[in-house]
Amino acid sequence: ATPMSVMVGVGKAAEYGVLIRQGDALQNAGKLDLVILDKTGTITEGHPAVTDLEACQGDESQLLALAAGLERHSEHPLAEAIVARADADRVVPANVSGFEASSGKGVSGQFEGATLRLGNRRWLEQQGVDLSPLAEAERRISANAGTPLFLARDQQVLGVLGVADAIKADSREAIQRLHDAGIRVMMVTGDVEATANAIASQVGIDDIRSEVLPEDKAGIVTDMSRQGFRVAMVGDGINDAPALAAADVGFAIGTGTDVAIESAAITLMRGSLHGVADAIEISRATVRNIH
Ligand code: ADP
Ligand code: MG
Repeated sequence: ATPMSVMVGVGKAAEYGVLIRQGDALQNAGKLDLVILDKTGTITEGHPAVTDLEACQGDESQLLALAAGLERHSEHPLAEAIVARADADRVVPANVSGFEASSGKGVSGQFEGATLRLGNRRWLEQQGVDLSPLAEAERRISANAGTPLFLARDQQVLGVLGVADAIKADSREAIQRLHDAGIRVMMVTGDVEATANAIASQVGIDDIRSEVLPEDKAGIVTDMSRQGFRVAMVGDGINDAPALAAADVGFAIGTGTDVAIESAAITLMRGSLHGVADAIEISRATVRNIH
């Protein structure tokens, strides 16, 4: 395409809230044949809320106080949900010291001489915690597309919290548009398989990579590139930045983190996945006009 037609394309995209920050991104967008979507904040709104509280000893407010005591030190969207719930229920967060975040796993800290951990099944089981008493609650939470988070005091499980995030109203339709354009769509998430499957089926995705550690997201992008795909990555989080940079075209959600926006060639100002399909259509039209 000529510089003039690219300028026209970039202007057209801007009308759709699709901000093209790197010159070659518009021309590359039309060649994409695989779109990899992050889950939280990309397919979903990114403002999760606590939906379930189940304490082994029946003390839900103590469970929430301990969980909030840990999470008030964290900036993860899951943490915000738990702190907000404690606030709404007027539950005072426990005074946790020595906070540590384990990326893609959970959070830990010290309370009354013991170690508290809040995180996913795999991580707590690695610490030797038996979660079988909560299997039923876990199933219920993940089947409803929520994320189960287990709380343990040393090796003893205290309960489980369910945190769920609403799917953006137009995600399903936008993904259908990509499929109709002949593009493969994959979802990548750090969340567990059952939760990932529940979200994916609601938006029409059958290609899912779950329990992906933050540092492995970019590896999936480069793997698919090596297999010959022209890969788009769409994400909002700090965790997504290396994958956004590794993709042929990175799309950052406009309300996402600054790191994600700086790592991506394109910013979706409206936060909608329709912007990805818009960019691809405009790119294809721009290149077609020239030849
Ligand atoms: P995503 O790909 O959904 O953004 P992350 O890689 O940030 O996921 O996290 C993956 C999983 O690690 C979460 O689903 C959760 O189980 C656990 N986790 C991460 N951060 C926290 C936290 N602050 N509190 C509890 N669990 C967490
Ligand atoms: Mg995200």
